[in-house]
Amino acid sequence: MNDATRPDDVLILGAGIGGLTLALSLHQAGVRCRVHEAVSVLKPLGVGINLLPHAVRELTELGLLEALGAVAVRTAEAVFYTRHGQLVFSEPAGLAAGYDWPQFSIHRGDLQSILLGAVKERLGPESVVCGQRCVAVEQDADMVTASFTGPDGRSLPAVRAALAVGCDGIHSALRRQLYPAEGPPRYSGVNMWRGITRWQPILSGASMIRAGWLSVGKMVIYPIRDAIDADGNQLINWVAEIESTTPAQRDWTRAGRLEDFLPAFEDWHFDWLDVPALIRAADSVLEYPMVDQDPLPRWTHGRLTLLGDAAHPMVPRGSNGAGQAIIDARSLAGAVKRLGVTGQALTDYDAQRVRATTDVVLTNRRNPPDAILREVFERTGGQRFERLDDVVPLASLQAISDDYKRIAGFDPEQLKARASYL
Ligand SMILES: Cc1cc2nc3c(=O)[nH]c(=O)nc-3n(C[C@H](O)[C@H](O)[C@H](O)COP(=O)(O)OP(=O)(O)OC[C@H]3O[C@@H](n4cnc5c(N)ncnc54)[C@H](O)[C@@H]3O)c2cc1C
Repeated sequence: MNDATRPDDVLILGAGIGGLTLALSLHQAGVRCRVHEAVSVLKPLGVGINLLPHAVRELTELGLLEALGAVAVRTAEAVFYTRHGQLVFSEPAGLAAGYDWPQFSIHRGDLQSILLGAVKERLGPESVVCGQRCVAVEQDADMVTASFTGPDGRSLPAVRAALAVGCDGIHSALRRQLYPAEGPPRYSGVNMWRGITRWQPILSGASMIRAGWLSVGKMVIYPIRDAIDADGNQLINWVAEIESTTPAQRDWTRAGRLEDFLPAFEDWHFDWLDVPALIRAADSVLEYPMVDQDPLPRWTHGRLTLLGDAAHPMVPRGSNGAGQAIIDARSLAGAVKRLGVTGQALTDYDAQRVRATTDVVLTNRRNPPDAILREVFERTGGQRFERLDDVVPLASLQAISDDYKRIAGFDPEQLKARASYL
């Protein structure tokens, strides 16, 4: 047994957004835990992530509001446009929408660094062990035993603990162990190209923009860092999404090629933004397929459970991937606080979160907020409209947005009324 672990420890497998939030939350609940991460060095990888008010509430309860506010952009509105640059729908977001918590648009690397810094400061530098890829977790009535390999592929000493939580992302080894027949993530039929461009503020300077539609090309554009230079430029995160029969490779760091997607946006010259110029000016472009998995009936098997993308990978059409991982972490820590470091706590967590996230995964497939764009695209045949009222009633677009908020857990009243997890 590893000397540093005690039988009451929780073993967290993966130091991504979910795993690090779980470590902070367990610590807040007075429970000892340790994070084992596969990569040797955690680098600020990825591009932008949105944290909606339900996730920011949890990070606020962890005392991270100020640190996040210092690097992230407080999103003020969500706006939807056609591929011709015509406004379809807009609504305020975060504090501007009356929430008690802001909506943050942030670089994934900044978010992970803030979480990692807080874990090391509060739990000690030894609480995150890198270069340890978990390959299997066995269990008996009292304990789990996790096996690891190092960066060179060689076996490392096994680690025992009372509970193990697989926070190991979309390629989860623990999910594969629990559901060996499942197969790889399911391709949605859409590929994504993601980039970051240094650019002048667009629209309000705090707008989450969605435009176009998947069949012909859709863009998601939002700032993730303010005032990065003396000219007042921002870091603008953008994602181009296009239906395609062939999936891109599932590698978060794979470089994309402009010629594979830029033609779909070549004529997007709006009076409020020159989209091809924004794309061409990107520092770099990453390619990734839009994938998810069919929801699982349960994640908890005795003393082992799953969390975040390992538990419920979802297509990123509702800004909820990181948020649901954060809420899983809070729910799990709350269950452990109430029921002790026991398998029963994991069963309670399962009961709270499997059904809730199943609804989000399925809604992200069929009717996420960008269904607003689908409605207008289908009703106009992708052509310009004269009057939006003649195309679609505003109330039905508002209903798409409001339904999603309820399903994903950030309806303003519902969120205000909900008790804290911890
Ligand atoms: C490098 C990277 C870049 C990303 N970029 C974006 C992005 O730009 N935009 C976006 O919306 N989402 C991105 N994501 C996904 C996003 O972080 C998640 O959808 C979301 O935050 C849920 O977090 P998670 O903790 O469940 O998973 P992740 O944040 O994916 O974290 C999983 C962690 O587990 C580690 N791990 C994997 N296998 C093992 C193992 N066997 N043993 C131990 N550790 C393991 C991984 O290295 C990673 O640190 C990225 C994920 C990664 C890993």
